[in-house]
Amino acid sequence: MDFSRGACDFCGACAEACPESLFAVRESTPWNIKARVNADCLSIAGVTCRVCAEWCDARAVRFRLEVGGRARPEINDGACTGCGECVAVCPVKAITMEECE
Ligand code: SF4
Ligand code: SF4
Repeated sequence: MDFSRGACDFCGACAEACPESLFAVRESTPWNIKARVNADCLSIAGVTCRVCAEWCDARAVRFRLEVGGRARPEINDGACTGCGECVAVCPVKAITMEECE
């Protein structure tokens, strides 16, 4: 998946269209990746931005207020589906998707 080009809504259409036996059964989770925010985040630097949270249907992004008007985005791994929707919409490409244990 190239999340810079789009997200996954887990519809399964790619698995159904693929002629090879590359995909696991539909009931299994396709991956165990979660969103991670790096230091380039505007909000961490004190610039108001909530774009990632606005696009997250799972409401997995929360902001922890810090001194100086900054707000640090935190990902709730339990809620994050790994859809990647937040990646392309971030104006400074501060979000990556990373494999979790
Ligand atoms: S969209 Fe990007 S810059 Fe904006 S708060 Fe989220 S991670 Fe930070
Ligand atoms: S990957 Fe999806 S569920 Fe996780 S924080 Fe980003 S938009 Fe929300």
